[in-house]
Amino acid sequence: MTGYTDYTDLAKQFGTPLYVYDIDRIRQARSDLFGALPEEVELFFALKANPHPQVARAMRDGTGKACRAEISSTGELAAALAAGFTGADILYTGPGKTGGELAEALAAGVRLFSVESRTDLEHVGAEAEQLGVVADCLIRVNSATSSSSTSIRMTGVPSQFGFDSENLPELRDQLLGVRGATVAGAHFFPLSNAKDEASLIAEFTHTITLAARLQDELGIAFRFLDIGGGFAAPYAVLGDRPVYSALREALSVALDKRFPGWRDGAPRVACESGRYLVGDSGQLICSVVNLKESRGRNYVIADAGINTFGGMSGLGRLLPVAVTPQPDGRANDQVASLVGPLCTPGDILGRDIALPTLSPGDLVVIPNAGAYGVTASLSMFLGRPAPAEVLISGGQVISASRLRQVRDYQIGAPVS
Ligand SMILES: *Cc1c(COP(=O)(O)O)cnc(C)c1O
Repeated sequence: MTGYTDYTDLAKQFGTPLYVYDIDRIRQARSDLFGALPEEVELFFALKANPHPQVARAMRDGTGKACRAEISSTGELAAALAAGFTGADILYTGPGKTGGELAEALAAGVRLFSVESRTDLEHVGAEAEQLGVVADCLIRVNSATSSSSTSIRMTGVPSQFGFDSENLPELRDQLLGVRGATVAGAHFFPLSNAKDEASLIAEFTHTITLAARLQDELGIAFRFLDIGGGFAAPYAVLGDRPVYSALREALSVALDKRFPGWRDGAPRVACESGRYLVGDSGQLICSVVNLKESRGRNYVIADAGINTFGGMSGLGRLLPVAVTPQPDGRANDQVASLVGPLCTPGDILGRDIALPTLSPGDLVVIPNAGAYGVTASLSMFLGRPAPAEVLISGGQVISASRLRQVRDYQIGAPVS
């Protein structure tokens, strides 16, 4: 994000806190990422990063290659369907898929599942069999090794995600014998937000090598190979999405070497991304409510806190939040903590960050906030309304909405 857009009018019209997502920037990111990948590689948009249905819609409509959808709940299933994806476009993932949600996904036409254990595979198979269909399952792999840009090191750690790669060969017969489910290939997701292109390439190369070895050990010809992601994006700080200029060639070389049939779809190869596709489309606009000084520390108290953005900071992770320059060019001439309105000392957006001199009523804009915003926040904590979410395209507002939580008393089995 460079440059500044004046959000005063939008803030007046919709109130703050307010997320603004620029659909044109989403389309650009989608086109850039497809352009950085070999022609044949498919791309899943992880709805986890931003499940707004119209954001998800921007991943598939219009010109250019369309993303598919990666989901892991019935809420994300509904969002993907609302965005116009069909069951056939969807990959369903996650370590705790219940029978009920699997049945719902299968009924909606979802046939591709990532499975994280033998029993998870059996659950998928059982629900598919109930419906009289067969589910294609990707064995998610928790690799015993990972790569860094400089070396391959052993890092296999225990996880609820994926099969331990070292145990897969001995599970072969059990995995192939599950009714209602076929082993269609493998799914890897070893890395998020890679620090640079070299580490991304090293990780993908390592993954492709491991996938080929597993294919041999299992003696199954993979029909589908999801090699994961790791595409980076700035998060709540100024900066631009990385440009991946060497990735396309490096992936082609690695795939040619290990999966000679991949260009003809044997296997089909896919990547996944959340933050790269949506991160730089969004800005969070909040208002200064009050200012305060306490024992030498300055506080700027805003109307958005960890209930609106970066709820994970409430879990002990502090975001390196920065703010965009003010439209009048005011310098960042103070060090202050930007905090939210919640009754917890954990409600900090940025501790001792550079801020301009602000007054109550001033707008503060947090850049690159399009991924892991509203739905990654502690939105129910302390009962404030969710922020407005406004979509713009061509500089025009095309949609404005707000998530709402309501208590539903109509639950449970009827009392007879
Ligand atoms: C979270 C997640 C993603 C998206 O990660 P980003 O870092 O936002 O690209 C993709 N795939 C899986 C399996 C995930 O859990």
